[in-house]
Amino acid sequence: MMNNMGKRCGVHKISTVLAVVGGINWGLVGLGQLIGGADWNIVHLVLGSMPTIESVIYVLVGISAVVLCFGCKCKKCMAAGASMGGSMPSSNM
Ligand SMILES: [Zn+2]
Repeated sequence: MMNNMGKRCGVHKISTVLAVVGGINWGLVGLGQLIGGADWNIVHLVLGSMPTIESVIYVLVGISAVVLCFGCKCKKCMAAGASMGGSMPSSNM
């Protein structure tokens, strides 16, 4: 799955990393709550002292997920998506 990342543009790569980070972070938030109200929100632990930057990270993660859902429309990603079918076969519009 990751072997076609070299053909993707920087925006797509950063989006993938941010979406993964957001997913893992969200998983940790849920786990921490289940285990006993622990705050395992890494983004909050690292950037909690800078609320604005923390919020910006969340927004960037959201934008990244949207980019991955609809696919980056740049030439590089269109070429890579056409040859690989993308990670989501239904998003070949
Ligand atoms: Zn792209």
